[in-house]
Amino acid sequence: MGSDNSDLHVIFFPYFAKGHIIPCVDLARVFVARGVRSTIVTTTLNAPLISGIIGKSQIALTTIKFPPPEETGLPEGCENSEAALAPDKLMKFMKATMLLQHPFEEMLQELHPDCVVADMFFPWATDSAAKFGIPRIVFHGLGFFPLCVSACIRTYKPQDKVSSYTEPFLVPNLPGDITVTKMQLPQVPRHDEVFSKLLDECNESELKSYGVIANSFYELEPVYADHYTKELGRRAWALGPVSLSKKETEEKAMRGIEAGIDEHECLKWLETKKPDSVIYLCFGSMTTFPDAQLREIAMGLEASNHPFIWVVSNKGSNKLEWLPEGYEERMEGKGLIIRGWAPQVLILDHEAVGGFVTHCGWNSTLEGVCAGVPMVTWPMYAEQFYNAKFVRDIARVGVGVGVQTWVGMMGGEPVKKEVIEKAVKRIMEGEEAEEMRRRAKELAKKAREALEEGGSSYSQFNSLIQDLRSRAH
Ligand code: UDP
Repeated sequence: MGSDNSDLHVIFFPYFAKGHIIPCVDLARVFVARGVRSTIVTTTLNAPLISGIIGKSQIALTTIKFPPPEETGLPEGCENSEAALAPDKLMKFMKATMLLQHPFEEMLQELHPDCVVADMFFPWATDSAAKFGIPRIVFHGLGFFPLCVSACIRTYKPQDKVSSYTEPFLVPNLPGDITVTKMQLPQVPRHDEVFSKLLDECNESELKSYGVIANSFYELEPVYADHYTKELGRRAWALGPVSLSKKETEEKAMRGIEAGIDEHECLKWLETKKPDSVIYLCFGSMTTFPDAQLREIAMGLEASNHPFIWVVSNKGSNKLEWLPEGYEERMEGKGLIIRGWAPQVLILDHEAVGGFVTHCGWNSTLEGVCAGVPMVTWPMYAEQFYNAKFVRDIARVGVGVGVQTWVGMMGGEPVKKEVIEKAVKRIMEGEEAEEMRRRAKELAKKAREALEEGGSSYSQFNSLIQDLRSRAH
């Protein structure tokens, strides 16, 4: 804290989706806490959301204009992936983000930063930074394990050698004998040429970039941190877990995003519960389950007999008509269903929470690690299958719910209530659960130490600053 790095100015450019914006703002908070001038760049319509997430932090915010509907083919106001979730809009949206290069460069011209930290989905940002003679660093918001798996799969293409989507194959040149299937790869909507081309460009621009900031800490995944830098030859700094940059209740609750519950009400409810007794379920910022799946979850939770907080997307009907008959009365005081957005970090950090059912987005995965709770892994899309493997087989702090294939944001064939009940009991009761809890708490302690003065992430930050300063002067 308190170091004078104010001679450096870093621009952060997050992709327009909550799962990308949140860790990027947290990362900027890490830089600000170490005295670096930090500015987040976004588009006009995303600014209010980001400003709310920034809260009282000293991070500056500046806007550029999103291209107009006549250039993008998108409706007016479609400036983030939530607004562009329909398949016909998503690809147009991704193409539209390519048109941001010019306004982004005008902004660089005006602000003269020393470095650009841009999301992986802006491949052109490497060239933009180069035009101004400054380094571009890539931020995926991921840890080293998913970064290594993705890099090895992209390099060696083992998926081309299997005959079916469900045949397991070994990821080449990766420690730990990791197997996956083609149905678990993030590129499953691979039939889309625009998306495949974009991913190729992202990869190329990453290889040309100055390096990668990982949202991780060395002690969590030393083998993969070393593999990424030493074997795969990438320059990288682990500066996380960035969610630990949120110190105040207000920051943890992220008041910028309209929540489905008042955070004080939520904390009051948790106060009535014993330590490690509550199971928390949340499936990230994009998932919407069909009613049949929601019903199975409801019944599985009831059968598990553990108190729970369950976050249910409010994208469907506002009523809870899919709940089994008399459910709300039976669960009164025992289960809390939050419609819409929940203050996740605040909830996970509460001592009453003892387990987490997660879709394994990397942010959620790492937030679970920081909370020191065992997890039930329920991956659905993107690199979540890799993260789930990490939780179960590498960190050994979780059990799976048995999902084997990429199903997208709507979920696939419903996971049955018996399976959910069993998985919840496995992380909440008995010796296996205790072992996982012990390991999880140990990792949570190491996560905090990493960011303290002298810790691994703290030191990596120093080394990044040194690199930047030696380039800047
Ligand atoms: N999140 C939250 N409340 C919610 C849902 C999500 O605070 O109700 C936060 C969560 O803490 C995490 C981010 O949103 O920081 C989701 O990122 P993740 O990588 O886990 O999943 P994604 O939404 O990108 O699939």
